[in-house]
Amino acid sequence: MASSKQPSRWTKRTLAAQALGRTDAATGAVVPPIHVATTYLRDADNAYSNGFIYGRPDNQTVREAEEVIAMLEGAPVAMLLGSGMSAAIATFMALSPGDHIVAPKVMYWGLRAWLLDDAAHWGLKVSFVDMSDLAAVKAAVEPGRTKLIWAETPANPTWAIVDIAGVAKIAHEAGARLGVDSTCASPILTRPLEHGADIVMHAATKYLNGHSDVIAGALATARPDEFWDRILRVRKQVGTILGPFEAFLLIRGMRTLDLRVRAASANAMHLAMNLRQHPLVAQVLYPGLQDHPGHAVAARQMAGGFGGMLSVRVKGGEARAVATAAHVALWKRATSLGGVESLIEHRASIEGAGTPCPPDLLRLSTGIEDPDDLYADLDAALKAAHAG
Ligand SMILES: *Cc1c(COP(=O)(O)O)cnc(C)c1O
Repeated sequence: MASSKQPSRWTKRTLAAQALGRTDAATGAVVPPIHVATTYLRDADNAYSNGFIYGRPDNQTVREAEEVIAMLEGAPVAMLLGSGMSAAIATFMALSPGDHIVAPKVMYWGLRAWLLDDAAHWGLKVSFVDMSDLAAVKAAVEPGRTKLIWAETPANPTWAIVDIAGVAKIAHEAGARLGVDSTCASPILTRPLEHGADIVMHAATKYLNGHSDVIAGALATARPDEFWDRILRVRKQVGTILGPFEAFLLIRGMRTLDLRVRAASANAMHLAMNLRQHPLVAQVLYPGLQDHPGHAVAARQMAGGFGGMLSVRVKGGEARAVATAAHVALWKRATSLGGVESLIEHRASIEGAGTPCPPDLLRLSTGIEDPDDLYADLDAALKAAHAG
């Protein structure tokens, strides 16, 4: 776990581009080396004056990546784990048996599955609510028992928007913490801690890394308190710290985070505006559109764009949606999101039973390609899917 530096005179974009300006003291290299050692020399008096003992609790390259994330989120500290799932589940495992979690009905399906099927095994009780409805959130809180409200915004796969400040107020009045899965916003568009969240989580696999070649998870906290220490203990004991090679790639990816997220957001807005006019599209779900139910809150809470994620509901139902995905040439038919290459996916078939995802929905993760190429490919695929 690493702390961010004192407030800087440079912007976050500048600091991220230079990965906080670190260089290698031994050689003058402008890119620091990857520290792969699992064990460290003791001093003659048996102390560890360098502060490193063993690779499972700590690693210098991981610390360097954590410092960039803490800086981006405006957090005093951040930690990196082996996946987004391990970051979120470490947070849930830091709760105590008997604790109650309020979670969203619309959220990343893998975490929803853990909360539905596995949380009870750890003595945790979970209520699922419409997290964009503050009255429903308030009604779901069990005073004295609710210890964590978990939100995701924009939320997979309808891009429902959560009012972070509104939910934070409800959580804090009940003596609970608010954790926000901010994977799809990225710290370029939203910094949840500034809106009152206590913990922010990222599948760093997605935008933070941005190149579809690292699995990683990040947490950042508003304050390094005893709950944060418990999460760190889970990471150390279960052995889920990120590996140094992945941390290195993540640092490299974050140097261009600002450019990538802004380009993907602009592309997604361009596609949303054009696809909503398309005769073969029934509906476009994108928080940047004025008729999206979360638009007003998103406009307040997101700065610089509405993200690279959107969904389209294809006219003619599930078969036409699947056929559209089958006919793309440029978009890649694959799961995941947040990379420089655009991905398309029929979500209902991956989420399985109980999903709130409509069967005619295609999820689009917009990359940084030419937006006219992206639109032309979708247009051709929609037409081909409806030609049969
Ligand atoms: C991918 C994703 C996760 C899980 O991250 P992994 O790195 O795949 O474990 C969690 N939340 C959201 C919103 C995601 O997109």
